[in-house]
Formats: sequence, structure tokens, C-alpha cells
Amino acid sequence: MPSPEPSAPSPDPAGLPPGPASILVVGGGGRENALGWALARCPGVETVWIAPGNGGSPSLPGCEVLPIPESDGEGLAAACLERGVDLVVVGPEAPLAAGLADRLRADGLAVFGPGADGARLEASKQWAKDLMVEAGIPTARHGHATSEAQALALLERFERPPVVKADGLAAGKGVTVAASLEEARAAIAEVFAGRFGAAGASLVLEECLSGPEVSVFALSDGQRMVLLPPAQDHKRIGEGDTGPNTGGMGAYAPAPLLDAAGLEGVRQLVLEPTLAALQERGIDYRGVIYAGLMLTPDGPQVIEFNCRFGDPECETLMPLLGPELAAVLLACAHGDLSSAPALTIQSRCSACVIAAAAGYPGEVRRGDPIHGSISTGADLQLFHAGSRREASGICLTAGGRVLAVVAQADDFDSAFARAYAGLEQVHFEGITYRRDIGHQVRRRPPLNEP
Ligand code: AMP
Repeated sequence: MPSPEPSAPSPDPAGLPPGPASILVVGGGGRENALGWALARCPGVETVWIAPGNGGSPSLPGCEVLPIPESDGEGLAAACLERGVDLVVVGPEAPLAAGLADRLRADGLAVFGPGADGARLEASKQWAKDLMVEAGIPTARHGHATSEAQALALLERFERPPVVKADGLAAGKGVTVAASLEEARAAIAEVFAGRFGAAGASLVLEECLSGPEVSVFALSDGQRMVLLPPAQDHKRIGEGDTGPNTGGMGAYAPAPLLDAAGLEGVRQLVLEPTLAALQERGIDYRGVIYAGLMLTPDGPQVIEFNCRFGDPECETLMPLLGPELAAVLLACAHGDLSSAPALTIQSRCSACVIAAAAGYPGEVRRGDPIHGSISTGADLQLFHAGSRREASGICLTAGGRVLAVVAQADDFDSAFARAYAGLEQVHFEGITYRRDIGHQVRRRPPLNEP
């Protein structure tokens, strides 16, 4: 049998450079399913592989699963070469920080996602703070400590209890917004007691800011960038934004907190200086720059950078993006956004609600069958997050956040009504979701209110 020919890139009738025909998305969450779904519907894309994907991935039109873990750089590189993959999109931060994009680029593959050098924007809070201070990017005052004694001495210098942040990747659990000095001391002790492993070898203490939060995403080719609509997510488990923090219980976009002028301000104040500072460090950053902002009375301040799409913001944003997405990500991967078609963005409202397993964000139930189906279509999508598929085809819950239901409409009330109606169609034992996602932008009261 002859080995399969690498798929030829598809020609573009408008004379634009061809988009990718074969794409690998790395990761196994709702974010990666949303990326796979959005890329598979771009003209010219023949196959999107998702590695390792989850229970929902095989049901996405145009998507196929590759059972290779995101940590297996060798296996992923070999699979890409064997299949003639034109573009790799890396979803999660951990493989990026571990150098997966570097490993794949070493084989000549086009990768959307920064190398380990650029991923430090997320993988080290201190590194990111240094970059921001040097580049004059607005961010909370901070100090860095490598021992508990040093951190406690630093604590004295804050007038109000600071935010305590483990330096490294801690799966969203390394930040404590301390309400009192005692709480700050306890958080410091926890970091140095090894709660976050190597991620807690040092910490950052940061002035506590206040204001609404909004996420801004730039797709960068290392020199230029395209901005996506701002999004807002809901981190807390409980309605009314109460209870412990989670990975995100829902989101909506575009967040009206930042209008076009506000977004342009963020580009000039935050994103362009960040990219310039990365370039000054010799970093060719090809991927997402995600700026988590707090809109304070003194203007936007950066509270974190991430080196990848947010989850569930990605699920929320993908349905708004046009069919040029695959070509745009490929152009970023090639370091030449100027050759890409302009990315069209629908001016509609997108709403995403997460269905989590009982117990989330603590210990969760697993292995419950997911019943029902949603008649997804142009305005309604279902992305599995924490699920796995049995040989029989039945999907079982397999994580904290199980499903993301996303809907679009001309206004947020209609978009959320559509998403919640979709959610009614699926069920698993212990299903948990917030009914008030997007309360900031909904005029009709959430469904559980009179
Ligand atoms: P991070 O992982 O850095 O995004 O922090 C997680 C959450 O902690 C953010 O979404 C904020 O709600 C909160 N947070 C982080 N830094 C600060 C800060 N300097 N002031 C107030 N809240 C913060």
C-alpha cells in the first residue's frame, strides 16, 4: 500500500494563499472541541484531528480523534508527519509551557501556539510582571518572594491584604484574593508548604484591585495581531457570583464593558507593548495573547496573561468567527498575518453555559451516562468538555465541567434563552449549572426568578 499523500492545501478562488486542508488540534477539553468545530467548517479544510479529544469529539462534523496525549510530543510529531498535517493548533497551556510547539516546529510543522519561551507569559507570574513593568503596561504593584520569610516581610509593605499568587502553572488554583492579613499569611504558608508543587517554588504578592473583569484575545503572528471580541466569564460556582472559583461556569461575548474604542485602547495600552516586549526578548510569539483585565477607576489593568484561548471563552467566541479562521491561524503560524484574509466577526451575541458534575469544583462524580441530544444548528452548539465515550458509543461524565452549551442571537436575552433551552435537552445524574450566566447583560430575569 502506498503511504497516503499529504493533503494538498486548498486553492482560494479570490487568489489568497491556500488555507490548511488538514489540521491537528491538541487538547481534550471543550475549548479544543470548539476549535475543531470552527476550523472544520472553514472552506478547504478536509480533516481536523483532535488529540486526544473527548467523548464529544467524534460527533463533530469533519473531526476525528487521535488517541495521543497532549504530553506526547514525539507521538504527535510523528502523527502530523504521517498525515501531512498543514497546521497544528495547541489548546492548553501545559504542553505549550513544556515546549510542545518547539518540538513540532523542529520537524518543520506550522504551529499556532507559542514556544516555551513565550508561554512564560502564563507559566511564570513573575516573568510576566517583569515584562509588564519594563514595558509600562498597567498592572497592580507587586513583589516577588522565594521563601516564606521573604514573603512575610514583603506582606508588611502592603497597606491592604494583597493577592497571593503562586508563580507557576497551578491549573487556576494558585491565586488567593485574601480578605485579611491572616488569610494572606495562610495562603503564603500553603504555597511554600508545596501545595502547588514546583509551581509554588516562589510567589507574587500583588496589590488587590477592584472592578469588573474582561478578557481580550489577540491572535499574533509574532509581529502583528488580530483582536477578537472581548468576553466575560463567570468564575464562581454559585449564582450571584458566589462560592469557590472554578475553571469557568459560563461566558458571553462581546462584553459591552469594552466597546470598539475601549478595545482599541487595550490594543495600544496593553497588547502592542506586550508583543513589542516579547520581540525585544527575542521571542517570536505565534499564538494567542490572552489579557485578563480588570477595569478599575484608573483604567484597565492586567491581572494575568495566558498563552492560549480561555475555556469557556473559546467555546463562546468560535461561533462568531468567520470561515477565514483556518487561514488566519495558519498565517499566524507562518509568521505572516499580512498574507491572510481579514477575519470576519459576526456582530451577534454569543452565550455559553457550562453543565458541571455534582461536587465541582471539588471532588466530582464520574462515569454517569449523558442522556439526550441537542438539535444543534447554526445558532446552537454543544461541546463536550469532561466526557468519555464507551465502545458502545455511550458518553459518560469524566470531569468537573462536562458540557458547554453555546447559542447565538441578535440580543443576549434571546441567546441565553436559546442556550438554556438547549441545556434542558441533555441530562446526567447530578448535573449542575448556573441559571444566571450573563446576568450583567440580560434584561429578562434569570429563569429561576419570579
Ligand atoms: P489569575 O489566575 O491571576 O487570573 O487570578 C484569578 C482571579 O483572581 C482573577 O480572575 C481575579 O478575579 C482575581 N485576581 C487576580 N489578581 C487580582 C488583583 N490584583 N486584584 C483583585 N483580584 C485579582
